[in-house]
Amino acid sequence: MSITNELLNTVLRHAGQEVSRKEFLSMAGRGLAVGVAAGALASCQDKPGPAAAAATTPLTGTPAAEVDAATTYTAPEGQSVPSSEAVSPPARVPTGLSEPIELEAWKSDVDPKSAPTPTPLPPDKRVGYALVGLGHLTLEELLPAFGQCKKSKPTALVSGSPEKLKKVAQQYGIKPESCYSYADYEKLKDNPEVQAIYIVLPNSMHAEYVIRGAKTGKHILCEKPMANSVRECELMIDACKQAKVKLMVAYRIQYEPYNRAVRDMIRQNKFGKPKYIQAQNSQSSANPDHWRHKKALAGGGALPDIGLYCLNTARFVLGTEPTEVFGYMHSTPGNPLFKEVEEMMSFQLRFADGLVVDSITHYNTHDSRFYRVNTERGWIHLNNAYAYKGQALQTSHAEGSAKMENHITLGAINQFAAEMDHFSECILEDKQPHTPGEEGMQDQRIMEAIYQSAREGRPVKLPAVKGKDAFRGPEPK
Ligand code: NAD
Repeated sequence: MSITNELLNTVLRHAGQEVSRKEFLSMAGRGLAVGVAAGALASCQDKPGPAAAAATTPLTGTPAAEVDAATTYTAPEGQSVPSSEAVSPPARVPTGLSEPIELEAWKSDVDPKSAPTPTPLPPDKRVGYALVGLGHLTLEELLPAFGQCKKSKPTALVSGSPEKLKKVAQQYGIKPESCYSYADYEKLKDNPEVQAIYIVLPNSMHAEYVIRGAKTGKHILCEKPMANSVRECELMIDACKQAKVKLMVAYRIQYEPYNRAVRDMIRQNKFGKPKYIQAQNSQSSANPDHWRHKKALAGGGALPDIGLYCLNTARFVLGTEPTEVFGYMHSTPGNPLFKEVEEMMSFQLRFADGLVVDSITHYNTHDSRFYRVNTERGWIHLNNAYAYKGQALQTSHAEGSAKMENHITLGAINQFAAEMDHFSECILEDKQPHTPGEEGMQDQRIMEAIYQSAREGRPVKLPAVKGKDAFRGPEPK
């Protein structure tokens, strides 16, 4: 029996009975031509009752008097009504909040798999963050990233600007009583909605705000570079140990999937042993009055701000530590931007097995951020390696007479959300962060050696470090 006949018979069968609006819509919605339904129903018009009445109305099928405008869907002219009843297809719904819902599959394994459905914690179970400093990074990246967090939420703000505090608090649903001036920073201690403090201030202020923050008993996430000297790093680590709070440096790259994939390839010797790495992180800056161009506030120029990514990422993907560095620094004479801090630093990291990392960081060229790991039998190239997004991974190796160049696309994530959720997980599960204060201090130690080398024009040796990932905590999930 065709659908048309089936419906016709059904309508006729119901002609003397009640036909509910839902039943009628369901029937009509099976792809039936409007005219056929109307014609069939017209023959019932001599019989009183709802079905007959329905035949006189448009396809929505409900007599005008019964229509509740607020709840009834009226198809626009030319659009057929929904073709099916709303149902839930089969799905596996584990009761545990941390287990993803598995939806009915419909894609073959020929294409890349979708990520599992997210498993966010309910808002009252998430770690609450106080953001200290409402500048570019906080407003442009961190606060929006909370929208993609599963374990973290913003609950307090600290700023010197009452206008910014008021507006940002309204935008992100933060209570007015959870907004603090820098003078009131210590009052965070009494805010039960704050478990973590995220320091997003100029580099020279990290040490003070980490140490004062630790005394409030809250865990501390600190932006990179950790501080302006190794001595400051030591004091920060000690203060957090004494206060029994966790300290993590916000090395987002170590939580970013493309950089982690490069690390896995290297650690698995996918194309043989790594031999040398070329790394570059450059951009163009302006505004001589900005703190980034003041030595006392920034600690240095391109090196601690963006060259640090080349340094930290090379250490991360290799897992080993350099034994010697060489630095060459330059600033264009007369350029007001670079009166106090370096415009460019070219530096080499030398490792015990002969591996070399050749790196350059610049504050006065068009944005360029990549590294290439040259291995015995191939190379791994990550473009936009240190950018917030847009990573492009390429590998090359030989197979017989063919040179295989592959572009690898992974599911992108928000790096800031991943980094904050990792810290939240460490707090919730009482674990050591993957990038603790010691990791930041090792970078600081190496940067001090690079500056010394550049000043003195000779290589500078570093203390030998045994083992892999000597300064890192357990792997993030
Ligand atoms: P920014 O200048 O935009 O913001 C700094 C904030 O600190 C401002 O809101 C300012 O009001 C406040 N502040 C308090 N005292 C100040 C003072 N004496 N001078 C200047 N500002 C003062 O800087 P930003 O780009 O947001 O950088 C903040 C920190 O975050 C830096 O340590 C930087 O290295 C780091 N950062 C990290 C990333 C990353 O990808 N992880 C990216 C950008 C910046």
